[in-house]
Amino acid sequence: MVEQKICSFCGTEIEPGTGKMFVKKDGTVFMFCTHKCYMNMIQMKRIPRTTEWTKAYATAKAISKAEKHVEQPEQKA
Ligand SMILES: [Zn+2]
Repeated sequence: MVEQKICSFCGTEIEPGTGKMFVKKDGTVFMFCTHKCYMNMIQMKRIPRTTEWTKAYATAKAISKAEKHVEQPEQKA
Protein backbone atom coordinates (compact mmCIF):
# COMPACT_ATOMS: atom_id res chain seq x y z
CA MET A 1 0.00 0.00 0.00
CA VAL A 2 1.30 3.44 -0.94
CA GLU A 3 1.87 5.81 1.97
CA GLN A 4 -0.76 8.56 2.19
CA LYS A 5 0.86 11.99 2.45
CA ILE A 6 -0.79 15.16 3.75
CA CYS A 7 -0.29 18.61 2.21
CA SER A 8 1.96 20.80 4.38
CA PHE A 9 -0.11 23.89 3.64
CA CYS A 10 -3.82 23.07 3.25
CA GLY A 11 -3.85 19.76 5.15
CA THR A 12 -5.69 17.60 2.60
CA GLU A 13 -4.57 14.11 1.60
CA ILE A 14 -2.35 13.96 -1.50
CA GLU A 15 -3.30 11.36 -4.10
CA PRO A 16 -0.37 8.96 -4.68
CA GLY A 17 1.62 9.87 -7.79
CA THR A 18 0.60 13.53 -7.69
CA GLY A 19 1.77 16.64 -5.85
CA LYS A 20 5.15 18.18 -5.24
CA MET A 21 7.91 17.65 -2.65
CA PHE A 22 9.99 20.63 -1.54
CA VAL A 23 13.15 20.20 0.56
CA LYS A 24 14.64 23.28 2.21
CA LYS A 25 18.41 23.77 2.61
CA ASP A 26 18.16 22.79 6.29
CA GLY A 27 16.52 19.47 5.37
CA THR A 28 12.90 20.32 6.22
CA VAL A 29 10.58 18.44 3.87
CA PHE A 30 7.29 19.96 2.65
CA MET A 31 4.66 18.09 0.64
CA PHE A 32 2.25 20.08 -1.53
CA CYS A 33 -0.97 18.89 -3.20
CA THR A 34 -1.09 21.67 -5.80
CA HIS A 35 0.94 24.57 -7.23
CA LYS A 36 -1.43 26.89 -5.34
CA CYS A 37 -0.28 25.51 -1.99
CA TYR A 38 3.38 25.61 -3.08
CA MET A 39 3.18 29.28 -4.13
CA ASN A 40 1.32 30.31 -0.96
CA MET A 41 3.86 28.73 1.39
CA ILE A 42 7.21 29.09 -0.41
CA GLN A 43 6.93 32.24 -2.50
CA MET A 44 4.18 34.26 -0.77
CA LYS A 45 5.39 33.03 2.65
CA ARG A 46 1.87 32.75 4.05
CA ILE A 47 1.20 30.94 7.32
CA PRO A 48 -1.39 28.08 7.09
CA ARG A 49 -2.84 29.12 10.48
CA THR A 50 -3.81 32.57 9.12
CA THR A 51 -4.91 31.53 5.60
CA GLU A 52 -8.70 31.06 5.57
CA TRP A 53 -9.03 28.08 3.19
CA THR A 54 -6.67 25.70 5.06
CA LYS A 55 -7.47 23.00 7.64
CA ALA A 56 -4.98 24.57 10.06
CA TYR A 57 -7.07 27.78 10.02
CA ALA A 58 -10.30 25.84 10.70
CA THR A 59 -8.79 23.99 13.65
CA ALA A 60 -7.20 27.17 15.04
CA LYS A 61 -10.53 28.97 14.77
CA ALA A 62 -12.41 26.07 16.39
CA ILE A 63 -9.92 26.06 19.28
CA SER A 64 -10.22 29.83 19.77
CA LYS A 65 -14.04 29.57 19.66
CA ALA A 66 -14.01 26.76 22.25
CA GLU A 67 -11.78 28.87 24.50
CA LYS A 68 -14.16 31.83 24.19
CA HIS A 69 -17.15 29.63 25.16
CA VAL A 70 -15.28 28.57 28.30
CA GLU A 71 -14.34 32.14 29.13
CA GLN A 72 -17.85 33.65 28.73
CA PRO A 73 -19.59 31.86 31.64
CA GLU A 74 -16.72 32.80 33.95
CA GLN A 75 -17.11 36.49 33.05
CA LYS A 76 -20.89 36.46 33.69
CA ALA A 77 -20.59 34.76 37.09
ZN1 LIG B 1 -2.53 21.70 -0.42
